[in-house]
Amino acid sequence: MHDFQYKDNELYCEDVPISAIAKDVETPFYLYSHNTLLNHFNVFDTAFSSIKHLVCFSVKANSNIAVLKTFINQGGGVDIVSGGELFRALMAGAEPRKIVYSGVGKKIDEIEFALQTDILMFNIESTQELEVIDDIAGEIGTRARISFRINPDIDPKTHPYISTGLKKHKFGINKDKSLEKYIYAKRLKNIDIIGVDCHIGSQITDLTPFIDTLERIRELISELQKEGIGISHIDLGGGLGITYDEETPPHPNIYAQEVIKQISDLNCTLILEPGRVIAGNAGILVTKVLYTKENEEKNFVIVDAAMNDLARPALYGSYHGIQPVKLEEKGQFMADLVGPICESGDFLARDRDMPQFERGDLAAIMSAGAYGFTMSSNYNSRLRVSEVMVTGDNFHIIREREEYDDLIKGENIPQFLS
Ligand SMILES: *Cc1c(COP(=O)(O)O)cnc(C)c1O
Repeated sequence: MHDFQYKDNELYCEDVPISAIAKDVETPFYLYSHNTLLNHFNVFDTAFSSIKHLVCFSVKANSNIAVLKTFINQGGGVDIVSGGELFRALMAGAEPRKIVYSGVGKKIDEIEFALQTDILMFNIESTQELEVIDDIAGEIGTRARISFRINPDIDPKTHPYISTGLKKHKFGINKDKSLEKYIYAKRLKNIDIIGVDCHIGSQITDLTPFIDTLERIRELISELQKEGIGISHIDLGGGLGITYDEETPPHPNIYAQEVIKQISDLNCTLILEPGRVIAGNAGILVTKVLYTKENEEKNFVIVDAAMNDLARPALYGSYHGIQPVKLEEKGQFMADLVGPICESGDFLARDRDMPQFERGDLAAIMSAGAYGFTMSSNYNSRLRVSEVMVTGDNFHIIREREEYDDLIKGENIPQFLS
């Protein structure tokens, strides 16, 4: 249960009416419930309490340092995919030994930064990457703890853009090649093998792909044992789905039960990299209606948020619930909720039954706490919006809205043009 509920016909975040925040903070803005973030993290973490485990929140889902700090305060770690995310994690106070680093394209400076930080492990996605990390570790005079990200060739039955564990994808090492890669890695001077990793996709609402993946991992671990390669960490990645509309994903407790059943006899530390399941329903995007109009075919509600603020509908055709901030005696109509950007893909909801919004009304775009702000951009030279966190009856601006000067930061007009 999340903390965005109506009281007296007003949508609240915890104990704060959202309309009160909108008086202080210019729309659009992202709004997170600290209590929901905390609850989601703790439910997920507690579900695995019967085994050694580490919950590494996936920074790319929501990278605001106040959000990260919320989980770090609970003993959580982080899953990063860039030097920038490592920087953010450290700024939020993440413990180096609770940081795992995934991604197919780690650059030299990023690898150096991670080695100097002494992170827990690199999730390696290619032989070349392994060799580069070995070299750099040697130069710095340290050792790199690694796991290989295995591509188990399993279909997670999710949107193709967020499905990552099939042979045709750029991610991980083909499962049939993984044994030889481990044997090769064992020979390298500055590499310590500690784990097996995978991440098969996102917004997964069925447990079977996870179970099938763990079976492959078990097979691999027993083959590795025969080669004298001991594994102390199993990283199952992220991917557990949430309810945006009518999806019925398994509760984290059920997910944990099934996972624990598969691996409890292996005596490994389980690493999990949840993103969406923790943050998705802990945040919304609050927007104001600028204009309404209709043509022969459709009604349009034009709001001040757009695809640059929330890319998911334009990128994946994703569904986000639309709710009025004030419940009023209004009719419903079928409309498109669209932003000001000069693209027809700039919609937040399409052909949706919604209240007959009028100019000046506030609307909440639900389930926007994950892959919301982090995917936002300055397209159309729009300012990136502020992020606000509510706790109890207080709210805090955890990221200021950008200003026009931010838009041209680092830009120069060269002499020959002036
Ligand atoms: C995106 C990603 C995650 C998080 O996925 P969710 O679906 O948000 O849980 C975890 N691990 C890796 C490697 C990722 O790329």
